[in-house]
Amino acid sequence: MLEFTAWCPLVPFDFQLRTRVVFGAGTARRLGEIAAGLGFRRTLFVADAGVRDAGYVDRALEDLGAAGVDAVPFHDFGQNPDSAMAEVGRAFAAPLGVDSIVGFGGGSSLDCAKAINFLLTNGGTMSQYRGYGKASTPLLPMIGVPTTAGTGSEAQSYAVISDAVTHMKMACGDPSAAVKVAILDPNLTLTAPRHVTAMAGFDAIAHAVETAVTTRRTPVSDMFSRRAWSLLNGAYERVLNHPTDLEARSDMLLGSHLAGIAIEQSMLGAAHACANPLTARYDLAHGLALAALLPHVVRWNASAAADRYAALLDGGDQSDRAADRLAERLESMIAAAGLRGSLRDRGVEERTLPELAALAAQQWTGTFNPRTFDEGGALEIYRAAY
Ligand SMILES: [Zn+2]
Repeated sequence: MLEFTAWCPLVPFDFQLRTRVVFGAGTARRLGEIAAGLGFRRTLFVADAGVRDAGYVDRALEDLGAAGVDAVPFHDFGQNPDSAMAEVGRAFAAPLGVDSIVGFGGGSSLDCAKAINFLLTNGGTMSQYRGYGKASTPLLPMIGVPTTAGTGSEAQSYAVISDAVTHMKMACGDPSAAVKVAILDPNLTLTAPRHVTAMAGFDAIAHAVETAVTTRRTPVSDMFSRRAWSLLNGAYERVLNHPTDLEARSDMLLGSHLAGIAIEQSMLGAAHACANPLTARYDLAHGLALAALLPHVVRWNASAAADRYAALLDGGDQSDRAADRLAERLESMIAAAGLRGSLRDRGVEERTLPELAALAAQQWTGTFNPRTFDEGGALEIYRAAY
């Protein structure tokens, strides 16, 4: 028996884009001009080691210097930035007297930049900022320059940062944590290794799919979710097969950004709630965890979201087949990306599923899933994905 969720145009929302978006091939070279235009004089330049090694950082620092912006690079953090790394960044930045921050790189760079900003301006520890609006002093102005198409962090006012002790992800949000300008230059994504393109891209796809069906979605978030999905759905295999296809790279980067805007309004669902404990407990990469889970979550949500999944597929097919068809499409993307693998294949021990389910049920993001998500539901999803 299907319970279709009626489309309700009366759902209240409060929507404001806080970020200016500069999009296009070559736009990264405008970083200096844009930073100077925002009044940056001395900036903390947070970039992951991979981006530094690709040579992008030297060029960006030159461009900033030429525009009269003194930039101090910081690279001392890992792929899953945690609260301890943010504290290292704060200790590094505190004596520098910076007036601004640039986050340049994958999602880890952008999240780390935001987390350092919280600590630098408001003190304390990251766990104090869990939730939304806990900063009493506005954060320093930021520019975000993503070099992967994935998290869409440059579109969000949240720093997603792991607790250094429990390894669980914390979403720490504040209106002033949104970047002032996001520079989306697909040229920067051309050299991303295939596994990075595959995993980050699938994360963006999961964002489009989950935001399209949450209980918090609005007519505005829905517009961003659907456009994100159509761009990502059309470009994912192309960018994997032809990594230098600039048009496909552009679609992926814009798609991930639009999905990031959708998250800001709509939040996420059961796939992210179930993925986070796997990353915390087994250090499973976010994209791999989502690839193992998302098709099963879509099928599990069929009774509550089939009409929304049908809308993503551009079909009028408002039957339980819509969820199956979407799950099959996701499975073909996962296969094309080389991300196929069950939780068992990923080294997850079956005996730990109940404890993982208990953790998944505590994830804030699970509360927005269209079908009521609890410990029992999480266990069903883990078992299906096992
Ligand atoms: Zn994600």
